[in-house]
Amino acid sequence: MKSFQEKLYQHHAQIFTVETVLHQSRTEFQDVLVFENPIFGRVLVLDGIIQLTERDNHIYHEMIAHVPLMAHGQAQRVLIIGGGDGGTLKEVLKHPVHQAVLVELDKDVIALSRRFFPGVSDGAFDDPRAEVIVRDGARYVAETGQTFDVIIIDSTDPIGPGEQLFSESFYRDCRKLLRPRGIVALQSGAPFFQPGELQAVCARLEATFGAARPFLAPVPTYAAGMLALVAAGESLAALRPPMKTLRQRFKALRGKTRYYSPEVHRAAFTLAPSFAPLPGSRTP
Ligand code: SAM
Repeated sequence: MKSFQEKLYQHHAQIFTVETVLHQSRTEFQDVLVFENPIFGRVLVLDGIIQLTERDNHIYHEMIAHVPLMAHGQAQRVLIIGGGDGGTLKEVLKHPVHQAVLVELDKDVIALSRRFFPGVSDGAFDDPRAEVIVRDGARYVAETGQTFDVIIIDSTDPIGPGEQLFSESFYRDCRKLLRPRGIVALQSGAPFFQPGELQAVCARLEATFGAARPFLAPVPTYAAGMLALVAAGESLAALRPPMKTLRQRFKALRGKTRYYSPEVHRAAFTLAPSFAPLPGSRTP
């Protein structure tokens, strides 16, 4: 059996056995690999970095979608930047939103995800409330006249085409599209390996939106197992409403969740990503 080694950090790597290679190609923007692993099922890799697996993608997608939408409570228009696999779109559409606009750079990621990971989007692309735009997300937010209640940045890491989605100017453009009481959510990598990156992203978001707070999701696929996500909005309290409010909103959700619950929502903000590097240690 062959193996796949993810090389995301300089001093640490994870290796997956490859039972079958299902697809390998170069799109206009990135290298794509889809393979099968006995534990994780099908695995999607972009530019050598694991994006998602069949076994645990629901944890990531539920947390990046339901935390901002539940915190908002009345979102009608939602923007997803990236997220070409459709997993976040599927979760967003469980809410009574009027429209969810997904702006993905790479049309091939959408096509390959629909082909090899049909369960991840599970029909979301065909929902009449979904609008899919194949375009650079940074250009879209700079140029569109549309406004949104929730913006979810479901990007790759800040390397390659995803890099600009972590910049201050991109966040400022998102702020212009955000309606009053709007909330933004994004992924910020593994805080154990990138504590500085998470701090920098939070500071940038706080300066742009008013308040920002990280929350954690345990996703075994990502090296170190703990993924940092960040929610930003007008106030910290708005990001983490009381349990009673979350429970009321949760009852109205169409379709089940496997990981997200009001209890998990509140706990995720309590789990502090306290992974300071050792004194004198080098970057991972
Ligand atoms: N849920 C997974 C995760 O945890 O990383 C997957 C995220 S999804 C596959 C990331 C998507 O962001 C990719 O399909 C990539 O093509 C897209 N992307 C990267 N840069 C982008 C940009 N500038 N504008 C729009 N989409 C972008």
